[in-house]
Amino acid sequence: MEKTENCLQKALPIYDFDPSGYTTIPPPQEKKGKKTQKEEFSSSQVILLTDAQIRAALLDWVKRKSYRSPKAARNMILTGVSQATAYYYILESFTERRAICNKYEPFDKKVCIDGPVEGEELSPWEVPVFPSEMFCNQVQYMRIPHTDVLTQCPECKEKKWAPCKICHASSKVRCPVCHGSGKSLNKKNCWACNGERLVACATCMALGRVCCEMCLGKGKVCYYKELRVEYKRNVCDYVHMKASIPRQLVPWAPGDVLFDSTAERVQALTTFPEEEINKVSQELLRHASTAWPDCQIIQQRHILKSIPINHVLYQWKNTSGSFFVYGSSNYVYFADYPQNKFLKCPLCF
Ligand SMILES: [Zn+2]
Ligand SMILES: [Zn+2]
Ligand SMILES: [Zn+2]
Repeated sequence: MEKTENCLQKALPIYDFDPSGYTTIPPPQEKKGKKTQKEEFSSSQVILLTDAQIRAALLDWVKRKSYRSPKAARNMILTGVSQATAYYYILESFTERRAICNKYEPFDKKVCIDGPVEGEELSPWEVPVFPSEMFCNQVQYMRIPHTDVLTQCPECKEKKWAPCKICHASSKVRCPVCHGSGKSLNKKNCWACNGERLVACATCMALGRVCCEMCLGKGKVCYYKELRVEYKRNVCDYVHMKASIPRQLVPWAPGDVLFDSTAERVQALTTFPEEEINKVSQELLRHASTAWPDCQIIQQRHILKSIPINHVLYQWKNTSGSFFVYGSSNYVYFADYPQNKFLKCPLCF
């Protein structure tokens, strides 16, 4: 027993001894060899839409919401179209965080103890754990091999029992019928306790003790270290565009993928003709290199997409304005469509 206690003493103080909390273990500093990344960009198509294509896109957009009247879309005069390109750059960093926690379980004689005698304990970052899928958030738990330490239950000291907290080990509690007076309403002896004021404790069946909650009556517990591995997809992105359409629409618009690279560590873009994209790529990668000090980046991916935008000028009755047809599937962004139905709520009159 002395030997196991020594093992426990040695095994436990290394990390935080809080059974509910995990202690994050920072990854070892590793210098990874850099591979040169080929920087070739696909060409994007610059297509100026015809009036017929614009009208078709607009009519389709009108159809999607019942409050838009198709009259304006059918009859408005398209007075000019200009073409622009939006760029969407996204950097994904897939990180891994490892934390450990000291846990215990009641000792089950049928289960073999995998203690330090069975082999050397691996440090949290040496335990082989892999994500089931890259760039997919997930959490995995694993019992660290060779960390089992069998010891007597610190709660009951191997007695397997604990004093009953309800009756304070006396095996009797105050009579609930007469509330301890021993008398019933007609001044006769209470029928439940027969005037004795106390009745047998139902919690411990009048034994004065209950099964130990910590070891569940086994007398011994097995301590072990549990590893928690958290994989997380961290996203940083940027929209480069001069057109005045809401930026949040751009990432969802289909376009051409100009560049797509995945590696343990990707390198910043340097030769894209739009200088701002190179700068952003460098900035986001610099940020990613220090953003998660407790984590290890296990994979990175960066994608550059171009989204065509057609800025269309129109005239409808006495109104003139503009709207946008964007993305390779010709989505429409029309901030102030001139003919919305139900502009006045009938209930308000
Ligand atoms: Zn116990
Ligand atoms: Zn009791
Ligand atoms: Zn009573």
